[in-house]
Amino acid sequence: MAKILIVEDEIKIARFVELELAHEGYTVEIATDGRQGLDMALAWQPDLIVLDLMLPGLSGIEVCRRVRQESRVPIIMLTAKDDVSDKVMGLDMGADDYMTKPFAIEELLARIRTALKRQVGGETRAQARKLTVGELTLDPLGYTVTYRGAEIALTKKEFDLLAYLMARVGQVVTRDELLDKVWGYAYAGDTNIVDVYIRYLRTKVDERVGVKYLRTVRGVGYVIKDEDEKD
Ligand code: CA
Repeated sequence: MAKILIVEDEIKIARFVELELAHEGYTVEIATDGRQGLDMALAWQPDLIVLDLMLPGLSGIEVCRRVRQESRVPIIMLTAKDDVSDKVMGLDMGADDYMTKPFAIEELLARIRTALKRQVGGETRAQARKLTVGELTLDPLGYTVTYRGAEIALTKKEFDLLAYLMARVGQVVTRDELLDKVWGYAYAGDTNIVDVYIRYLRTKVDERVGVKYLRTVRGVGYVIKDEDEKD
């Protein structure tokens, strides 16, 4: 069963979540400040982290940033207030999902299940194979993207989005499907975020290497194509 780390300084919330997760069969550890949370995230190597934003020691944002330098573990952030800038910053730092406190435990459990299931390119990492489109190669195990052998640095979401499209080369994928498979239902209905991340990928991949891989299919979605193929 999956190992879950809860980083939360409010002991009552931490214990409550621990109890519920243990009841579901997860193995759970609690860290009560940011520093301890970071140490445990790196040493214990949980399968998922539930990370409070407001923490003594190191902030949740800082913990998230540092964990991301080492690991792609799914992170669900807890925010006390529905503050858009905090939310955006958390997601920029590589959090996979967020929840605003107070939250229903059933919803957190559902999001944990989704995050654990969500897989690179829609496959488990164990099944993951290298994906190649033209001279662009994506390695799900090494979490690297290269063009003619030169690495292209991407954020986790950009990587996941590119992986999903590359696994379906030549196949048009709708915004709704991308939103569902790459982001999950924290973003239900907000397909603008897909367009935003496609733009990031165009800047970081297409424009940089001078090849138009990412194509827009007007009114439908996106498709990735080999450079030699025509529209
Ligand atoms: Ca807190």
